[in-house]
Amino acid sequence: ALLELDAVSKTFSQRHGGRAVQAVAGVSLAVGKGETLGLVGESGCGKSTLARLALKLVDVTDGRVRFDGVDVTGFASRRMLPIRRRLQAVFQDPLASLNARMTIAEVMREPFDTHGVKLGAELETRIRELLSFVGLENIGIRKLPGQFSGGQLQRIAIARALALEPEIIVADEPTSALDPSIQAQIVNLMLQIQRKRGISYLIISHDLDVIGHVADRIAVMYLGIIIEQGTADAIMQRPLHPYTQALLSAAPTLAARRQVGWKRIMLTGDPPNPADVPSGCRFHPRCHLARDICREKVPPLRATPGTGQMVACHLAPDETAQAGAEVGRAR
Ligand code: SF4
Ligand code: MG
Repeated sequence: ALLELDAVSKTFSQRHGGRAVQAVAGVSLAVGKGETLGLVGESGCGKSTLARLALKLVDVTDGRVRFDGVDVTGFASRRMLPIRRRLQAVFQDPLASLNARMTIAEVMREPFDTHGVKLGAELETRIRELLSFVGLENIGIRKLPGQFSGGQLQRIAIARALALEPEIIVADEPTSALDPSIQAQIVNLMLQIQRKRGISYLIISHDLDVIGHVADRIAVMYLGIIIEQGTADAIMQRPLHPYTQALLSAAPTLAARRQVGWKRIMLTGDPPNPADVPSGCRFHPRCHLARDICREKVPPLRATPGTGQMVACHLAPDETAQAGAEVGRAR
């Protein structure tokens, strides 16, 4: 594994009126070389915190973070510097993540300066190469970010992330702030970059369609924990956790919506609140299958024989597999 999170947790003490909130509660994930791991979940499930833990922008409360086999959990910024070169980030809002008062040329030279890479007269050529690599030939590099569209800015943010030839990019909602027509372009650009450069991605999104399109493997997060994980094919075609099934059935294709027999698995109950985690299975107040054991006992994330999936549900796969296959077929 290139990037490995081993039972990481993050507790914030100040949130929600002084009550401690465990945003991430013992998550283990690994991203292999050249692989795309998609992390999906609703807003507030802790996925952005997980991205920041993976990027070492915040410290874990518990657990370990490893990069290419090296335990970087306790690394301060200076020791992280050589690793940051290999581990880059792309965020949701490109205008907010780029300094509005810096020209595109300045934005693009920043990573080289930070890492002491001196290109001299070559710098502008290198910047133009990077920008044309992301489909921005001949743009005015003396302009300010405010003079570009959201899609162009996300391309610039990706070009900057690629400047030092990283081995992995952690992308937190890289398309959510963009128009739907532009979203597909950015997703396809990221896939194209992966084919050309062989880099790894940890892509985080609330949008299972985006994740299903790009990921080799998918992890589903709910209230700070991973509730299901598997190959993209398995998750999209036969999800076993009732929550994953609800996420998938909430966004059917048009053809599926017309198809007789398509039934939406509804989420009932209150939206999840990390300051008030339910007993037993965290999903039980919203689960249409919930019974006594679900309120009493935490279901461990465990492998389900023959499916290659990991799922945290007392009733999976016996009582959930059929609904999962139906939801998968309806897409
Ligand atoms: Fe639903 Fe129970 Fe499974 Fe949780 S453990 S997802 S409440 S059936
Ligand atoms: Mg977020």
